Amino acid sequence: MRHAMADTALMPIPGQIDPVPVARDITPRADGRIDLIGLPMKRLIELFGESGLDAKQAKLRGKQVFHWLYHRGVTEFDAMTDIAKAMRPWLAERFVIGRPEIIEAQHSSDGTRKWLLRTADNHDFEMVFIPDADRGTLCVSSQVGCTLNCRFCHTGTMRLVRNLTPGEIVGQVMLARDALGEWPKGRMDFVESGADDETEAEYTADGRLLTNIVMMGMGEPLYNFDNVRDALKLVMDGDGLALSKRRITLSTSGVVPMMARCGEEIGTNLAVSLHAVTKEVRDEIVPLNRKYGIEELLEACAAYPGASNARRITFEYVMLKDKNDSDEDARELVRLIKQYKLPAKVNLIPFNPWPGAPYECSSPERIRRFSDIVFEAGISAPVRTPRGRDIDAACGQLKTAAEKKSRAELDRLAAEKQAALEAE
Ligand code: SAH
Ligand code: SF4
Repeated sequence: MRHAMADTALMPIPGQIDPVPVARDITPRADGRIDLIGLPMKRLIELFGESGLDAKQAKLRGKQVFHWLYHRGVTEFDAMTDIAKAMRPWLAERFVIGRPEIIEAQHSSDGTRKWLLRTADNHDFEMVFIPDADRGTLCVSSQVGCTLNCRFCHTGTMRLVRNLTPGEIVGQVMLARDALGEWPKGRMDFVESGADDETEAEYTADGRLLTNIVMMGMGEPLYNFDNVRDALKLVMDGDGLALSKRRITLSTSGVVPMMARCGEEIGTNLAVSLHAVTKEVRDEIVPLNRKYGIEELLEACAAYPGASNARRITFEYVMLKDKNDSDEDARELVRLIKQYKLPAKVNLIPFNPWPGAPYECSSPERIRRFSDIVFEAGISAPVRTPRGRDIDAACGQLKTAAEKKSRAELDRLAAEKQAALEAE
């Protein structure tokens, strides 16, 4: 196997502050087969060539398999009906179609669903699905844990375990489609979208539960840039998951040096976790601010490729009682947005509590007043309705359940798993 890597657990991890490109390739499996999920078409074609198909065959099979993997969501080579029957066992001997393992699925009383997932090397992470009247949003994780320790965020209290691979990132979207029963059955049922992005295709929203994706789960997506980009390319590919880039939003806590590349190489909507308008407060609650300050961050926003009045940048602002929620803060927020001439909207997020959190949520009246001040200045500032709080699925509440389980529970689960293996 070419450039095989020993164990993804040993993947170099980007440092506290500066992103480091993370090499990735295929993680070898115990049975020697190669997991195809997360690989682009070019890599599928290469692998089929290396396994003995001639160039023409490799290309044809690569295209067919790509379509079945990402557009149709099949998990067995036997289901790939336009591939010759004799060819399918050849594929199955050498390759597998993986998904992250589902450890637990929870339902909130408001319809929000949260899944605890596990990587092949036993790291747990979460994804959340938030249904609304007119859309269904999947909140996708980019890392197991996070290096950034924002003080109001539960994920920030975990150490970074590792970056998720492209397969584990796109695998979340695929699992959600599996769970919601949303793979297209017949012909390729996507429609070409507007003239300004001819290469893209888009599922029509009606009848579809999963219409939007936000990179707002565990982790800082711009510290796992290559893997997030490669995964989102598969999501946006018209012959892949075929979701328009306009329906995808990437949220960053402000990794300034990666923002231009994010616009150029990914091109999704951008959300920025601003949360404070003074150096003192932002330094405290988003420690990354000590490295990339508010001015630099707003300059990078002003230069974000693709931002326009039609495609605004979202500023996320968590409402923390007596910390960042005064009238003066609201006015300063307006001033900054105007100073940098940002095509912006503001998303006010009521703070979601978690055990031991050092902050409280602002009162509803305070949030309303803050929102009104921003609105009156002509900037949209809706208050985000907290979703899935009862199952710890709301913004900033994600923290891998395995870490929260007691030692005794973990031992019991391990014993059960062992017993199940022995029974097989
Ligand atoms: N790491 C990225 C994306 C994940 S967090 C980022 O920080 O932008 C998604 C959003 O939830 C961010 O705006 C984050 O600041 C916010 N958030 C984190 N903890 C929260 C909490 N306890 N209550 C409300 N929002 C929170
Ligand atoms: Fe990491 Fe985002 Fe949480 Fe900050 S808010 S600790 S960047 S996940």
